[in-house]
Amino acid sequence: MSYLAHPARATDLEIQSLNIFTHESMHVRGEMNEALTECEAVQRNYRAAKLLGVPDGIAKQNALDYYNKSYQLRAKIGGLAGEYYSDQCAPGKAMDEHLSDSTWSP
Ligand SMILES: [Zn+2]
Repeated sequence: MSYLAHPARATDLEIQSLNIFTHESMHVRGEMNEALTECEAVQRNYRAAKLLGVPDGIAKQNALDYYNKSYQLRAKIGGLAGEYYSDQCAPGKAMDEHLSDSTWSP
């Protein structure tokens, strides 16, 4: 709720809460592999933020901030966090679903 109260000045933790919402929604759809689930969420965080009422440009920036900061940090941390990361989760790579409203679409 604090993320939705001020998305334009969201903290990393608040943006991570958006990703948890999206990530768990992907599990509900049936995906159980954590790296695939997380990459599906990365690509849909922009859409999810807009569905929650966040203005378009801010939703895009929040979603890109998650991908460029928190998501990339998972690779550096490794261990359990690393199981949620894949270098194939990137534009044009194997996990790119080519969604028309993807976080990383132009
Ligand atoms: Zn999960």
